[in-house]
Amino acid sequence: MKLPFATTYLLILLTCSLASPQYAQSSDYNFSSPPSSLVERGAGVSNQGNILRPWPVNDPVASRKLTVIEFCFALLPFREQALFRFMMAIDIWINALGGEAGPHSGHSIAFQETFYSDGTPLPCYIPGTAQNHPPYGQWNPVLPSHILQIMPVSDRDSAVASVGYRVGVNLENGRHSMAFAPDFDVERIYMLVHELGHVFGMMHEHQRSDRDDFVQINWPAISGYETGLQAAMTEGFSKEEAEYRLQTEEAFGKYFNVPTGDFNKAVNGILGPPDDPYTIDESSPYDIDSLMNYASAHYSLAPDSGDAKDATILKWVKDESGNKIGSVPYPHNTAPSVGDVAWIRKWYPWRGA
Ligand SMILES: [Zn+2]
Repeated sequence: MKLPFATTYLLILLTCSLASPQYAQSSDYNFSSPPSSLVERGAGVSNQGNILRPWPVNDPVASRKLTVIEFCFALLPFREQALFRFMMAIDIWINALGGEAGPHSGHSIAFQETFYSDGTPLPCYIPGTAQNHPPYGQWNPVLPSHILQIMPVSDRDSAVASVGYRVGVNLENGRHSMAFAPDFDVERIYMLVHELGHVFGMMHEHQRSDRDDFVQINWPAISGYETGLQAAMTEGFSKEEAEYRLQTEEAFGKYFNVPTGDFNKAVNGILGPPDDPYTIDESSPYDIDSLMNYASAHYSLAPDSGDAKDATILKWVKDESGNKIGSVPYPHNTAPSVGDVAWIRKWYPWRGA
């Protein structure tokens, strides 16, 4: 069977959408599709092997040893609305961590926006150049290539981010990115907090190797699953093979336009193709309260129904002996859990004096 989809990837990007995970047309901004580098991941980027990729210590004040995540907004009109939402998400993390980087909070993360020397914000792309360099314009040459770019999408329900830090990122092989709509619903700010988790390097909790002991994936409830399954069978795959590959191969799901890649299970803590593996830290117990653990409504065909049959992911109920006796839906986690905070302190420990 010839597989028409690409098997090489660029930067890791995970979508988190209740509606469509696709980027959509926008009348507010002059772009029609995301850069292709943003929807794929892998090749062309120096691969650091099967390890988590936290952002590096880069503090100009050597004694503090902070990890300063520098960011820019793609466009200044987008920044006007997006800055508030982005800062809200950062604040939720910082509050959960017990405050700014320091010995009391036990972490070393800081964020820094880029500015011109006169104090005006420095956008990622040179204003007015989008026509010749779609979709956003020409990359601002004064900015380092590894900077986190905050980008607009028009779908109010979706958000996306790259995972962790890669050496050698650029416009062609995919930058460190986070994207969301300028009018992103602030009542669901937890989705941006989740995306920041990806930026730090966190993977989905429900994709851990041991997830089947704690949650149950309800594949048919995933938006687009049945359509994708039918499309695969129309292309000649048997039902068994199509289901197996939808449930285990990210690229197969992508090709058939189903977000099953966000539900694939790691093997020994490793997700993704062999030429571009990425790692889930499974050293602590499974954390159902993690912000990185999808809610039952995520990617559901009927996210508001509350019915178990519409839940894409359910929580196992166990008896006193630990036997599974049923499964139930559960709501969104809206703030970093104790385990999420521990993850940050482990990978970004306070190193200062
Ligand atoms: Zn995610």
